[in-house]
Amino acid sequence: ADADTAIVTVANVSKFFGDLKALNDVSLSVEPGMVQCIIGPSGSGKSTLLRCINQLEKIDQGAIRVDGELIGYRRVGDELHELTDPEIARQRLVTGMVFQRFNLFNHMTALQNIIEGPLTVLKRPRKEIVADAMALLERVGLAEKRDAYPSELSGGQQQRIAIARALAMKPKLMLFDEPTSALDPELVGEVLNVMRDLAASGMTMIVVTHELGFAREVANDVVFMDKGEIVERGTPDTVLVAPTQARTRDFIAAVL
Ligand code: ADP
Ligand code: MG
Repeated sequence: ADADTAIVTVANVSKFFGDLKALNDVSLSVEPGMVQCIIGPSGSGKSTLLRCINQLEKIDQGAIRVDGELIGYRRVGDELHELTDPEIARQRLVTGMVFQRFNLFNHMTALQNIIEGPLTVLKRPRKEIVADAMALLERVGLAEKRDAYPSELSGGQQQRIAIARALAMKPKLMLFDEPTSALDPELVGEVLNVMRDLAASGMTMIVVTHELGFAREVANDVVFMDKGEIVERGTPDTVLVAPTQARTRDFIAAVL
């Protein structure tokens, strides 16, 4: 993909945790409106890659651009200045993230969970923010649950609220880190449906998932990671069906 039009460009990124190289020279770029799926075994660096893109972790080598901006920096003339923590927090809002565990605020209702971020950050009238939140609840099929607390919702419903909450910040890019891995099997479909609709609406998405059927249907491009490296990348029909690398083949055989 072209670095000039890409919404995310990861260039030669490495990330260490002590002596462990969690990411080893990873490069990836995602065009607007595309769905990038990432597959790979546990410990291969998938979450670390998403966390670096979302600036929950700092990278040790390489560079990441999101929406044209070098993350962690701002440009002043010809010079790059490292961002302060509050500036990083603001820059991070371009990206919405949905985690394996729903991580909603348990003392807040569905609606309160969704409006919390926009009320603190977006500086728009409460009425508009609530109207937007209701539209999002509608979109994830949970308008009637606006006043429910997380404990009153199923895992699938909580995850749909988590998606609505991320969307409320109007991100340009959505990152999903195994969003259905913690769900009972019968609840997986409702979350994938919301993600499918989101992809169809043109949202740019990076999705770490073991749901290979979903990946095959929705992804424009799939990468297989192992031991902190991208081992193989290509169309879903290549990587998921006729992979060229033995490691990818073994992984897919183990997941199916
Ligand atoms: P995946 O999401 O593919 O399962 P991770 O990105 O979570 O893999 O982890 C990649 C490697 O980095 C693993 O070996 C993991 O133990 C290690 N790791 C991840 N986060 C940390 C951390 N905060 N501190 C130390 N090691 C970590
Ligand atoms: Mg992970």
